[in-house]
Amino acid sequence: MIRFENSFARLPAWLFTAQDPTPVAAPRLLAVNADLATALGLDPAWLATPDALAVLSGNAVPPGAAPLAQLYGGHQFGHWSGQLGDGRAILLGEVRGSDGHAYDLQLKGSGPTPYSRSGDGRAALGPVLREYLVSEAMAALGVPTTRALAAVLTGEDVWRESGPLPGAILTRVARSHVRVGTFQIHAARGDRAALQALADHVIQRLNPDADGIGGLLDAVVAAQARLIARWMGLGFIHGVMNTDNMSVAGETIDYGPCAFMEGYDPAQVFSAIDRGGRYAYANQPGIALWNLAQLATALIPLMPDPDTAVEDFTIRINRFADLYQTAWVQTFGAKIGLADPGPDDAPLIQRLLDLMAQDRADFTTTFATLGTDPAPLTNTAAFAAWSADWQSRRSPDHTAIMARVNPRIIPRNHRIAEAIAAAEHGDMVPFHTLVAMVTQPFAPLDAARAPFAQPAAADEVVTRTF
Ligand code: AMP
Ligand code: MG
Ligand code: MG
Repeated sequence: MIRFENSFARLPAWLFTAQDPTPVAAPRLLAVNADLATALGLDPAWLATPDALAVLSGNAVPPGAAPLAQLYGGHQFGHWSGQLGDGRAILLGEVRGSDGHAYDLQLKGSGPTPYSRSGDGRAALGPVLREYLVSEAMAALGVPTTRALAAVLTGEDVWRESGPLPGAILTRVARSHVRVGTFQIHAARGDRAALQALADHVIQRLNPDADGIGGLLDAVVAAQARLIARWMGLGFIHGVMNTDNMSVAGETIDYGPCAFMEGYDPAQVFSAIDRGGRYAYANQPGIALWNLAQLATALIPLMPDPDTAVEDFTIRINRFADLYQTAWVQTFGAKIGLADPGPDDAPLIQRLLDLMAQDRADFTTTFATLGTDPAPLTNTAAFAAWSADWQSRRSPDHTAIMARVNPRIIPRNHRIAEAIAAAEHGDMVPFHTLVAMVTQPFAPLDAARAPFAQPAAADEVVTRTF
């Protein structure tokens, strides 16, 4: 039994389309997230029942749900794509978490919707497990993110370029699924009433203290500045920072061709579709700002005087640079054990990153082992000079500070690939083992955990993600 609230379903009808999930042939539960269920006031034991499986696979619509597909648009790789929308996701409704916040429950891969265009509305097992693993790792790392409540097999094949693949559905949980692109589509259509209803909804649900539309913009700018700094501090590359994949709740959303980098290279790209490197690691803050400018543009029609609004909004989005730089220094300052990092520490941090880049040093391992022998970098003279400066600046407490923020285990690309390959052959053990590892990222290494902290061997390296 799930107690649904349906605030999005009560918005004007042109913001979404009512849409039930399409039933599937032979659903089977693959994974359920008991801790998250509990935090959402759902009974983990119920989630393992046949009744729950029917809901998680889209074979039954639970009482009180108002299933719908959300309309949105977006800029993809810098180009306006017009209407997109939930082409393979269906929002069942919202549930109230034990923290008092409302959370969307969404089925991803649950069949076609009016926004599917040429797509089949379905998801393959691999991407579903990838999203489950990476989003739960991000949550354990303390990064704002959508979550994974469950994964099920549909018992049906989906056809992709490579041929038939097992179909799956992810139950995704989010503070909201409203994206920059949700605002953009109504602005592009000149639909002021829809824009206003959407803005009111987002303010009420996510930013009740925001002072009007300018305050809403400020809140999204600040949340994104903090979020991107957290990604950077983990070597995380989102891979598809299109405006339809940027959440106004400041959560990481849409885990597709994302990756945690191993060897540090600011120009690193994994996404197979990112040929120009638009969404490379080092470009992420600039792209976030570009996306925020699109949000500001979409919000202008809600302001009484467009000319004043342009000036005002320009000031507001330009605060991103300072907010991001502050968050970056805090993030990386903690990573090197500074108790009170400030702007003056940026050069010290950057010198270490430059040395890491020379070696393509493993991002995660370098920070996790910094300060222990042997020195992790080959330019020993430069590293010794850096270490001397570091030792005079770092907190007496640096070991404890660093242990709290530098993960030992992240979801390494070859481990994800290994877990997916096994699952495609019916063996879920590597997936469950990996979930257990990546959801304890800061715990000390023991014999069972140590292999998961290792970078890929030469023949295991993953260079492209999908
Ligand atoms: P993404 O690249 O994941 O952000 O998706 C971009 C758009 O394509 C969104 O509107 C998705 O809903 C839609 N889409 C992606 N895959 C499918 C699919 N298999 N069937 C229908 N729509 C899809
Ligand atoms: Mg998307
Ligand atoms: Mg996607």
